Formats: sequence, C-alpha cells, structure tokens
Amino acid sequence: MKDYIIRGIDNKGTLRLFVASSTNIVEKARRIHNTSPTSTAALGRTLTAAAMMGIAMKSDKDSLTFKIKGDGPIGNIVTVANNKGEVKGYVDYPFADMPSRPDGKLDVGGVVGRKGYLTVIRDLGLKEPYVGMSNLVSGEIADDLVKYFYLSEQQPSAINLGVLVDKDISVKAAGGYMLQLLPNVEDKDIDRIEEILKQAKPISTLIDEGLTPEEVMEQLFGEFKMEVLDRVPIEYKCNCTREKIEKVLLSLGKEEINSMIEEDGKAEIVCHFCNEKYKFSKDDLEKLIDY
Ligand SMILES: [Zn+2]
Repeated sequence: MKDYIIRGIDNKGTLRLFVASSTNIVEKARRIHNTSPTSTAALGRTLTAAAMMGIAMKSDKDSLTFKIKGDGPIGNIVTVANNKGEVKGYVDYPFADMPSRPDGKLDVGGVVGRKGYLTVIRDLGLKEPYVGMSNLVSGEIADDLVKYFYLSEQQPSAINLGVLVDKDISVKAAGGYMLQLLPNVEDKDIDRIEEILKQAKPISTLIDEGLTPEEVMEQLFGEFKMEVLDRVPIEYKCNCTREKIEKVLLSLGKEEINSMIEEDGKAEIVCHFCNEKYKFSKDDLEKLIDY
C-alpha cells in the first residue's frame, strides 16, 4: 500500500479526522538512519504525527517542525513536514534500544524518556514562527501530543500512532490517526468516541491487517457519517541542496570557516535528515568567504 493521509469530517461538522498510512516512510527512515527497533518506533510515530500536522497547514510554503526532547537514551527526535506530504526526520542516537515491555510492545516511552518536552514550530512565512511547547506525559508520543494540543492549542483530540517492527527489524506496518473535537461537538458523541477508542485495535494492527486509511475511518468512526475531504500522498523526502548547506556553513561565521581551511584544508557536511555528504575543498571554502 502506498503511503497517504486522508482528511475527513463528520456530517455535522463536529469532528475533524486525519488518518495516515506511513509504512514506507518509516521503513525509509529506518534504512537511512539504521535505527534500532525501539528507535524506529519512536521516530516512526513522530514522523507520522508530523506528516498529519503538516497536511493540516494551509500554504505550500508553510513548514512544520515537531521535536521531542526527553531524558531517554534516544536524545532528540526532530521531524520536519510540509503540506505537500513531504516529511523527514532524525534522532540523536539511532542505536538506542530498550527491552520490550511486559506486554510485548516496544518500549517507546523508555527510549524517549518520560521527562522532557515537545515543541511544535510552524513557520507560516511570517516574521516570527509560531512556537508551542508542552511537557511530556509518557514519552509514548501520542499521549504527549494530545496534552500538547489541549494545553497549547486548546484543541481536544484523540491520537493514535503506531509502528509494527518485523522480526528482521524492517517496518511491517505504520500509521496513525488524529481526531479533533470541534467546539460544537455533542457530549453524547464524546462519550461514544471514548467507548470506540477503548475497544479499537492499535492503528499499526489495522494497517498490518491491510486496511486503507478510508477503511480505518469507516471501521472506527463510520457511525458519525464521515466524508473524505482529501487524500494526500506522503513520502520521506529531504530537500537539502548544496546551496542550503553553504548557507549553514556561512552561518558558522568567517572565523570558523577560516579555521577549517587552516586545520583540514577542506570540510565535509553530512545532512542529518538524509545522510547525503557535501564535500567542500579549500577552494570552495575560500570562495564562500570571499563572496
Ligand atoms: Zn538531506
């Protein structure tokens, strides 16, 4: 199944829903970063959430950064997405791993850490980006994001994110959904949603069973007469270019570049998101600072 996100709404206009199928994105991230199973799940959940938040933005030029900084061994998790369905990410320590939890699930909360905070930065092309932040609840990412939306954006929501890692450590299934309760939602519907979610299988199981995002929407929330508003293909894509890397180099300052020239006579910059290597000779570096 190709990765994509659907955006849906109920017939009363009180529930907004995003459902993502993201198996290929998470597998690509795993191959680029060589992540351990638990790190694959942590990065995969974060990438899936970022992709859904990215799709929710209005303009093609908008960009969203979703970062998690917990006190666990994985270090920082950084993801970036846009509304065209492009998403990318990395973690500080991809080899960080944890024994599975007693219930057999990967211990994402353990590898992320239960103390720390998450940050959502929306660059909407204004002078200052919009930055929201909240403390982590469990490090399991979905719970943390629910709290963030509630406290920082006054948006009640239900979120499920899941990555199923196969025995050979490749990604078997990944996906997520984000249900947002709009201000006019009825109490009886909220009660019903709580019941549904209590009994629902994890999203990674549903995707693994071969359900499409449309079928997930129908199976979980069909009784609310949901309608699909749009369907956006999503992919892991890094848009780094030599030009952008040159800007990063320049931002280090002339002095720093001069010391690179003196000490090494060259520089090599590796893109965090895709591991592409950019090599700069002594000549290249000199031209950079002359410019
Ligand atoms: Zn890159």
